[in-house]
Amino acid sequence: MKVQFIDFQGQYQTVKVKVNRRLQKVFERGDFILGKDEKDFEAEFSRYCKARYGVGVNSGTDALYLALGALDVGPGDEVILPTFTFIATALCVSYTGAKPVFVDIEEETYNLETKAVEAAITPRTKVILPVHIYGQPANMQDILSLAKTHGLKVVEDAAQAHGATYQGKKIGSLADAACFSFYPTKSLGAFGDGGMIVTNDSKIYAKALMLRDYGRVGRYEHKIKGHNSRLDTVQAVVLSEKLKHLDRWNKMRQGVAEQYRRQLRKVDGVIPPPVKNDRTHVYQTYAVRVANRDAVMAGMKKKNIDVLIHYPIPLHLQKAYEELGYQKGDFPVAEKVADEILSLPMFPHLTRSQVKYVCDSIKVLVNGKV
Ligand SMILES: *Cc1c(COP(=O)(O)O)cnc(C)c1O
Repeated sequence: MKVQFIDFQGQYQTVKVKVNRRLQKVFERGDFILGKDEKDFEAEFSRYCKARYGVGVNSGTDALYLALGALDVGPGDEVILPTFTFIATALCVSYTGAKPVFVDIEEETYNLETKAVEAAITPRTKVILPVHIYGQPANMQDILSLAKTHGLKVVEDAAQAHGATYQGKKIGSLADAACFSFYPTKSLGAFGDGGMIVTNDSKIYAKALMLRDYGRVGRYEHKIKGHNSRLDTVQAVVLSEKLKHLDRWNKMRQGVAEQYRRQLRKVDGVIPPPVKNDRTHVYQTYAVRVANRDAVMAGMKKKNIDVLIHYPIPLHLQKAYEELGYQKGDFPVAEKVADEILSLPMFPHLTRSQVKYVCDSIKVLVNGKV
């Protein structure tokens, strides 16, 4: 049996007819940049997140970069973020000229450790940037109360958490701004790149609108030095049709996760992802910890099962950030998790027999404790 890491076909077949019909209209109208469907999708997605405003941009990375820009983050400022994330979370900070300050994660959920955040706050700290890693929200209550105490802003990296909830509230409405990616492999994925900033703050909204469109206030009138970073109308059409199915697809992911959990929880040497009971996990990534990870990975590949590592090298040990002077051993939890974590195939239409084949294979390949 072959098990792909992600198979887009199930989702594509669901939206194909409607997407084709709407794309045809875009091609005939020719409103490719900031067209009607793009504006409509901003309203649809921000409403989905229970937030007031949405600003469509050309990637999740730019959503983060422009959200920080809208908060006037720049040289001399510090932004606190977890070391265990995709590098884009840190790059967006570097683009602004501010300094990324890495902190360790909790062993339980792989999200930002609140005590570590508190210890990293300095007079230069401007923003806390939690990542809802794999689709499970970070400890937002603690983070928001720390931010309030110290007068900081909070921007959520929600690139993996479309539709997840925290204490009954949708991700996207909790902090100053939340940033989403619509990269094809995300839970809500375009047919190319895309992203969105979602916010309840009219000032952030107004500045983000300018930043994504050359700092424009009129056609040839520019108030600030903005960028060219807009969500294409074509991608907005795809996303708008897919959004109608997102909750159902997230439920299907949760169903797949439950099958994995049942078959793996008693296997010695495998730790399925724990979920805290005041939040929902939407499993953009299904990552387990395994004892002899590299051997398991090689064995899975031989059995035609695609697996990946998210992420093998924490950011503080990346060459790109060597100037910050971090050392191996600085963030022991993140380093340990990076050595043990393994992402299994995950997409809404994964079948029962595929899940069973993956679990049976792990059982044979794994040995010993984590
Ligand atoms: C995917 C991702 C990003 C970047 O999004 P792009 O659309 O690829 O630019 C940022 N942060 C996290 C946690 C991601 O998973």
